[in-house]
Parts: sequence; structure tokens; C-alpha cells
Amino acid sequence: MRTIIAANWKMNKTHAQAEAVAAEVAASLKEQPVQDREVLIFPPATSLDCVSQASQGLYETGIQNFYPAEDGAYTGEISPAMVHDAGGTWALVGHSERRHIFMEPDALIAEKVNFALAHDLKVMLCVGETLEEREADQLRTVLLRQITSGVSGQTAASVDNIAVAYEPVWAIGTGKSAGSREILEAHEIIRDILRAVFSDGESVPILYGGSVKPGNAHEILGLDNVNGLLVGGASLEAKSFLEIVRA
Ligand code: PEP
Repeated sequence: MRTIIAANWKMNKTHAQAEAVAAEVAASLKEQPVQDREVLIFPPATSLDCVSQASQGLYETGIQNFYPAEDGAYTGEISPAMVHDAGGTWALVGHSERRHIFMEPDALIAEKVNFALAHDLKVMLCVGETLEEREADQLRTVLLRQITSGVSGQTAASVDNIAVAYEPVWAIGTGKSAGSREILEAHEIIRDILRAVFSDGESVPILYGGSVKPGNAHEILGLDNVNGLLVGGASLEAKSFLEIVRA
């Protein structure tokens, strides 16, 4: 199973700042290659081009959000063709900030998954429960709904191009990562759901995200069914991101 370490820079960094961090990451990966890890960066759309160019093939890049249409009157939106044009090969879909701040419903998220895969973008589908849902014992129900609706309509052929990121909403940007027990439980549920949906569900990477830092990355990566990390805050500096990449 591959291991993916992904950076989500969210709405941070000017072009020059993004270029500087990307150059530092690429230089480090060149000098000291990582054998068993795929590195991926989701910069803001305005820097996708320069972060892709800085990669020298040492990491991949993706878009944090896009609109599922070829082109046309969608003010402010970005199409998959534009993502390819800027060197991106991945799309983040269903991030909790898209679900909760921008009110993206499951149906739109499913549409984005379909459209991205049909347009040769790999998809990282983010799922995760809120604190209220967890306290109401809704973990399995929420994950089942988000995953089955997100990948509905996908066939076995899509499996190689999908990764799932489990990001409990209460752990994102709070400095409070989920504990090992909570991560193990959620990742096992996700693996069961993926096995039920795809004959080859075993091969879909499941990443953990939510307050990952250099200090907890190694332990989390050692847990069953954890096949990578999606890192927000700690990916903004090359030094801490690279420590996580090598954790
Ligand atoms: C994220 O938003 O994808 C994330 C994991 O953020 P943080 O690492 O800052 O919690």
C-alpha cells in the first residue's frame, strides 16, 4: 500500500511565499529522496502553477476546489482543464471547510468526484464527523453517508484514482488531534465501507487529517489502515512539513 503525505495550504501564501516553500520542499526531496512516500501539495489556486513548476517531478500538486463544468458562466470558479493547465493532478473534494463554511451538500460533492475522475484528476475525498455527531454516536452513519454518496457511480476502474481522508471536524485546526483509538476506529469503519463499495476497496489509501504535527505523525502513520496524512497548519512551513514527510 502506498503512503501519501499531503499538504493543504488553504487560503494562505502569496505567490512568492508559495514558491519559496515549494522550492525548499523540492530541494530537500532531491537531496534526500523519500522511497516509500508520495508527497502532494494543495496550494491556493493562484500558486498552483508555480508550485507545480517547482516540483521537478518530486511531488504532485492538486487544487483545493473546482467546479464540475467544462467552462462557461461560473464566475469565480475553476475547471479541471485549468487545473491540468497549471500542472495539477489531484483535486481535494468535500473538505470540511467546503462542507461547513460553504455549505456544499453531498450531492455536489458526488458530482465533483465524478467530474474530476472523468477529467483525469485524482480525487482526495474528505470525510469526517462533527463533535455533535460523534457525541450522538453518529460516527458510522456519517462516514457511511459521506463515502457512499461521494463515490456513488464509481466503478472498480476508479479505485486507483481515489484516496479518502478522514478528518474529524473537531480536530481540524484545533491543535487537538484525534487519539489513536479514535483514528483506528474510524479508519476501520472506512475500510469496511470501501470494501463493501469496491471489490478492490482494500487498495484505496485512507489518510488521517486533523492537527497532525511533526511530534505525532510517526505514531499516527503506524496505525492500522492509516495510509497517509493530510496536513494543514503544519504544512505551511517547509521544515515542519518535511519532518512529517520523513516521520
Ligand atoms: C486540514 O484542514 O486538512 C487539516 C488537516 O488542518 P490542520 O492540520 O491544520 O488541522
